[in-house]
Amino acid sequence: MSNVVECRDLTKTYGSISVVDGLDLTVRAGQVFGFVGPNGAGKTTTMRMLVGLVHPTRGQITLNGRPLPDPEGLDRVGVMIEEPSFYGFMSGRTNLETLARCGRRLTAAAVDDVLDRVALTDTADRKVKTYSQGMRQRLGLAAALMRRPDLLILDEPTNGMDPAGLRDFRTLLRELAASGTTVLLSSHLLSEVEHVCDEVAVPNEGRLVEQGRPSELSTARAQVHVTVAADDRALAQQLLADWPVRVDDGGDLIVDVTDGRLVNQRLGTAGVWAARIEAVRPSLEEVFLDLTSIQPCVSERAIG
Ligand code: ATP
Repeated sequence: MSNVVECRDLTKTYGSISVVDGLDLTVRAGQVFGFVGPNGAGKTTTMRMLVGLVHPTRGQITLNGRPLPDPEGLDRVGVMIEEPSFYGFMSGRTNLETLARCGRRLTAAAVDDVLDRVALTDTADRKVKTYSQGMRQRLGLAAALMRRPDLLILDEPTNGMDPAGLRDFRTLLRELAASGTTVLLSSHLLSEVEHVCDEVAVPNEGRLVEQGRPSELSTARAQVHVTVAADDRALAQQLLADWPVRVDDGGDLIVDVTDGRLVNQRLGTAGVWAARIEAVRPSLEEVFLDLTSIQPCVSERAIG
């Protein structure tokens, strides 16, 4: 699978502050790739650099095999960064037709097609100033799709979308990926990212702190919860001391290892029989909060 986006040592400095700091990023063809970070992590700045709106202080960007600033790298890239702007006094359709006239190879049929893909056909002839935020986002997405991009770069695309809009958006992204379009999106909606992205990268303060498949990120942080009889607890703790282990408020041992079989074997060999051994995976939200050093406010856990 070829690499559609490659960033090496990408850095943007404002004054003395590096808002993007030595970022290495690879997005492969046909992936839906999520960029998930807290406010100010550098997501928008990175995306702006990818499409030539911000000049990097240092580092290289290659799009579709062409190093920027070669404009051909941007030839088949659809972009929606921050709030899309449209003429409020024109209808959604007229806005897209105006854009189509500025582009190459674009026809009225292409406008109809993208309006249909983002479920705006019925409201396409209303003035954009009467659109809700979610409808404007859809129109922005339609504009980004109009050139049939190989690569779609979307900054917070689901802002303001209702649950049906989110579901349709997720389906659309998976359809695009299945037909070979690569998608790089940023989002704060971890549940969305978890369901739609093949891979996620987590930037914090301009640096990448984690990258991987959503399921891998949580599986790699699984802990094994062990319930033993109170009389066996001290011995069990001793037997498991090769790993970081603590006792929680309910008396269970929480072992910092991902594979429950190792724990089972260690206890069983010494004749200590546990009533329960369970690998517990954190949710992606807990992983995210942990990585970005924010205290979790939810304790909901996915059992694995
Ligand atoms: P959010 O999730 O809130 O949109 P983000 O991850 O997209 O955040 P950026 O918008 O890339 O973050 O901003 C990263 C940092 O860079 C922020 O601290 C922001 O204030 C700073 N920044 C962005 N543009 C400029 C600029 N033109 N001059 C100075 N600082 C800037």
